[in-house]
Amino acid sequence: MRVCVAIDGPAAAGKSTVAKRVATILGYTYIDTGAMYRAFTLYCIEKGINCEDEKACVAVIPEVSIELKPGNLVFLNGKDVSFDIRTPIVNANVSYIASYKDIRLALVELQRKMAEKHSVIMDGRDIGTYVLPKAEVKIYQIASAETRAIRRYKENQEKGIACTLDEIREDVKKRDYIDSHRAFAPLKPAEDAIPLDTSDMSIEEVVNAIIDIINKKIKEIGK
Ligand code: C5P
Repeated sequence: MRVCVAIDGPAAAGKSTVAKRVATILGYTYIDTGAMYRAFTLYCIEKGINCEDEKACVAVIPEVSIELKPGNLVFLNGKDVSFDIRTPIVNANVSYIASYKDIRLALVELQRKMAEKHSVIMDGRDIGTYVLPKAEVKIYQIASAETRAIRRYKENQEKGIACTLDEIREDVKKRDYIDSHRAFAPLKPAEDAIPLDTSDMSIEEVVNAIIDIINKKIKEIGK
């Protein structure tokens, strides 16, 4: 049986960390939709395009090819950009890019195609509400703003990405604001999403909680 799991929530809520682990344990394909908006943003930055200029950003859609490859690698026009898409300059611009409807439509088409054949865990902002509205399992993962900032700060330190905790706090706040206030497919929980507050949970606890939710749902459907 093919199962689609949608995990949405604000920036740095730990969605990708747990989604990757759950996918490995259950043998599902993990799809990081944020990485796709990040890769598009990187393309615009490298081309010298102002990311706040919607017309200019939308104009380059035909020039951009994004692929997610095994090992959670992200390729932009054939080049591995898995590291480059996590830098502060991409963080600062990605929410502008993600607010442009035409860019979203192009990337959502790819995302839906990726979910056609296999069981998937897809994480993002609009997966349960827009990309996969019929997903069997929908989770809305949150954590307090401070927990999220600290988690992302530590993650960046481990990856060797230079930043301060204050910068991360600001970045997360700004992205959440733009993501939840955009007109098209904003960040919000689907009506049928299960809320999961991970503020006081370890990664293992979140992984186990999500696997429990998925297993219960599969049983329910099988009945
Ligand atoms: O998940 P991540 O933080 O890497 O996503 C980066 C940005 O991409 C988000 O802040 C948001 O602006 C955008 N995004 C989105 N819709 C998604 C996934 C990400 O708008 N499904």
